[in-house]
Amino acid sequence: IQWMPATRAVHIDRERKQVELHDGSRVAYDHLALSTGARPRMLDCPGASLDAVHYLRDLGDARRLAAHAQTARRAVVIGGGYIGLEAAASLRLKGIDVTVV
Ligand SMILES: Cc1cc2nc3c(=O)[nH]c(=O)nc-3n(C[C@H](O)[C@H](O)[C@H](O)COP(=O)(O)OP(=O)(O)OC[C@H]3O[C@@H](n4cnc5c(N)ncnc54)[C@H](O)[C@@H]3O)c2cc1C
Repeated sequence: IQWMPATRAVHIDRERKQVELHDGSRVAYDHLALSTGARPRMLDCPGASLDAVHYLRDLGDARRLAAHAQTARRAVVIGGGYIGLEAAASLRLKGIDVTVV
């Protein structure tokens, strides 16, 4: 395994079987695995960018949410999947009223 930290893949050349990196260099492949993860779906409704609206994906998101939760009394969680319900349970443990949509 050749580890290339802080390196972004910016283009896939399927004909030449090469991945182009952000610095312009290229890496050849025989088989390519795309394992770039997932992002939360962003809301485009009015108010979605307000200060007390949080998305939950990484450690920074979790820390911002936890900081806000220290003074919050009520929370609405949009998305009742695994992450949404786990967040709802954590907020309940802090004594916050939670509504899951
Ligand atoms: C809040 C939260 C809690 C979770 N809790 C659990 C849990 O308790 N147990 C559990 O099993 N799972 C949990 N999960 C799910 C788990 O984190 C994910 O399923 C797992 O991280 C997915 O792994 P992945 O490799 O597909 O993606 P990721 O871990 O997201 O990794 C993708 C990587 O690809 C990199 N990347 C993206 N685009 C490029 C590019 N163009 N060039 C180079 N690199 C790129 C990203 O920087 C990232 O490092 C949780 C997820 C969240 C959000």
